[in-house]
Amino acid sequence: MIRPLASLALGAAFAAVAVSAAPRVAAPAATPFRVGAVEVVSLRDAKNVVANDGQTFGIGHPTADVAAVLRARGAPADPITLGVDQLLVRLPGRVVLIDSGFGAKMNGVLVRSLAAAGVTPDQVTDVLITHGHPDHVGGLVDANGKPAFPRATMRMSAPEWQSLQQGRAAAVAPVIKAQVKTFAPGAQVMPGITAVALPGHTPGHSGYRISSGKQSLLVIGDTAHSAIVSLAEPAWRIQYDGDKQQGARTRERELAQLAATHQRIFAGHFPYPGIGYVVRSGAGYAFQPEQR
Ligand SMILES: [Zn+2]
Repeated sequence: MIRPLASLALGAAFAAVAVSAAPRVAAPAATPFRVGAVEVVSLRDAKNVVANDGQTFGIGHPTADVAAVLRARGAPADPITLGVDQLLVRLPGRVVLIDSGFGAKMNGVLVRSLAAAGVTPDQVTDVLITHGHPDHVGGLVDANGKPAFPRATMRMSAPEWQSLQQGRAAAVAPVIKAQVKTFAPGAQVMPGITAVALPGHTPGHSGYRISSGKQSLLVIGDTAHSAIVSLAEPAWRIQYDGDKQQGARTRERELAQLAATHQRIFAGHFPYPGIGYVVRSGAGYAFQPEQR
C-alpha cells in the first residue's frame, strides 16, 4: 500500500506548485564543460513558464515595472520563462548529480538528458541537493514511486532535510530517507566540492563550489531565478523565497560578490545551459552567458 499512497501524495504536492509555475516539457539536452580537470555537464529537465501577474516576480511592484525590466533586455514582458536544469559532475570514482528536476511524474526529462551524457541512473553515486523544492527533488523519485537513483547517497544540509520533510515536496522524504546523508551548512561535501550556505530561499538552501586547480564554478541554486529580473532588481521580493527579506539580502550580497570576483556560475533557472558570469549593469546586474 505504501507505494501507491506515496505516489498520490507526490502528485498532489506537485499540483499545488503547478498553479504558479507550470512545468513545460522540454527536449533532453546534455552540454559538457570543464572546470579545470573536472568534466561537468549541464542537463535539462524542463521549463517553467511564469505569468507576469504580480504574484511571483517583483511582489509589491506594478507589473508594468517588471515588464519594463524584461523589455529593456529584449525579453517578452509576459510570460517569464525559466529553465529547470541540473549539473552532472564527474569526479574520480564518483558520478555526482546536483539537483534532480521535477522528475518523470511531472514530465521531467532529466533521465533522458543523463542518457545523452552516457550515464544511467544506477551509475549516479551522489546527488547533491541545493534545497527541497519540487523542481529540485521531485526527480529523486521515479515514475513508480521508487528511488530514481537507487545507489546514490542523497546529500543536503541538515536544516534543509528538516525543512524538506515539512514542505511542498514532503512526499519525497520517505522514499529517499534511507539514502540521505546531511552535512553542516558550508561544509566540504567531498574532495573538490564545498557547500556554500545561501539561506533565505529555504532555511538550509546551499550552493556548491566545484574547484579544480585554479578554476571554480559556483552552483548558485535558487539565489536568482530570472536571469533578467532577479539580477536587474535583486532587492525585489520573489514568491518562491520562504523568507523573502533574507532571500533578497542573500541575493544582493551574493550578486555583488560574484560580480566583484568574476566567479563563474551555474544557474539552473537561467537560460540553458546556464553557465556564465554576473556582471554589473546600471544600478544592478546582468547575466553574461559563457560563449561556446
Ligand atoms: Zn527552483
